[in-house]
Amino acid sequence: MVNGAVFFLVVNFIIAICFALVFAVVAVRSRSRQAAQWFSAGFAVASLSAISELLVAYTDLPRLFAVLAFASVLGGMILLRVGIGELYGMRIAPLGAVSFFAACILLDLLIYGLPRSTLRHAISYQTPFALVILASAVAVFASTRRAKIDRVLGFLLVATGLHFFAKAALAVTAGAGTAATDYIHTNYAVISQGSTAVLIVAVGLTLLSVLVLDIMADERSNSERDVLSGLANRRGFENGVAAARLAAPAVRHSVMTCDIDRFKNINDTFGHHAGDQVIRALADLLRSSAAPNFVVGRIGGEEFAVFMPNTTVETAMRFASATRRETMAITVDGLPKTLTVSASFGVAEVAAGESLDDAMYRADMALYEAKRAGRNCVRQARNARSASPDIRLVT
Ligand code: GH3
Ligand code: MG
Ligand code: MG
Repeated sequence: MVNGAVFFLVVNFIIAICFALVFAVVAVRSRSRQAAQWFSAGFAVASLSAISELLVAYTDLPRLFAVLAFASVLGGMILLRVGIGELYGMRIAPLGAVSFFAACILLDLLIYGLPRSTLRHAISYQTPFALVILASAVAVFASTRRAKIDRVLGFLLVATGLHFFAKAALAVTAGAGTAATDYIHTNYAVISQGSTAVLIVAVGLTLLSVLVLDIMADERSNSERDVLSGLANRRGFENGVAAARLAAPAVRHSVMTCDIDRFKNINDTFGHHAGDQVIRALADLLRSSAAPNFVVGRIGGEEFAVFMPNTTVETAMRFASATRRETMAITVDGLPKTLTVSASFGVAEVAAGESLDDAMYRADMALYEAKRAGRNCVRQARNARSASPDIRLVT
């Protein structure tokens, strides 16, 4: 006959195994591969507790399996704590974890003879679980990760940790039988296994969400990043600019485009690899000289753009002129020291409400003018409302 507690034990076993498998799969793609593997191991180990609980009731070795049930739940939770430590940068000392585990097993052996349904037994039995889960909550809250999902996980862990004390109180009031073998036949076991099932699912799904959201963020950032230079690609640049403009809609911004001069010659004379090195060097220069709030992108082969939020065109022109000078100091392995790399620059003020495309077009027009003027110079575009396409000369 299948009673309620047995039913929940079987369900919990299946749920734990499912999570173990899902985390093993997610580990393949996860940024925190080790964390996902620890979670997988944690659920796999915890799943053994359901089997052990059944064996307590239906074999002649209740003591062995009661301790195994306790050990697998606690071991699984400690593995989850290790994984959370990896994920949240709050690692625990392996020796500390092992000693704690051993001490708790010893405690469980010592209290085995105590009558169930007493506060002493219930508290001694549940406190280790509560401590490990609350330690996980502390790791989540103490970490620098502060997204909403991390808060949800933190509060869920606090609730899960505290629920073990509620379980202890319930064991005393509702009655957990007098010996380990009675457990499975009590109403307490049904409620206990039922609430645990709910919390296992909630914690498991939340942890899974944390890992999957990380994977999605990584995918997104990969799709917005240029591999050669490490800068934003055109899509990343456009998204970065959109975000910057959203944060400061009413102020004026500036944009600069630049293009390496006679780059074809560098490729043809010194090889594609040397050309790539020059692209990297200019990217590094732009990255290091840009203010933290600037959006820097490689928007074409040897073309770059820098969006400067809340920056006047005069300041942007100074930035462009400084970058032009520093470009000439670029040195690259494989290129003769006598060869000077240079680039041409166009700068435009982005009018409030003007589309980025229009502002970039004006910056590009200024850049072409710089090319026409002999290259290795900076030109500023006339501002947006001017009907004439002319360019103001600044050297
Ligand atoms: P200008 O001064 O007028 O800009 O002359 P340019 O030779 O730089 O201009 P052009 O647009 O004719 O040549 C750009 C070259 O950049 C052509 C292309 O082969 C090269 N290129 C584009 N992407 C890459 C890249 O990722 N690596 C390398 N090495 N070369 C690239
Ligand atoms: Mg060029
Ligand atoms: Mg070009």
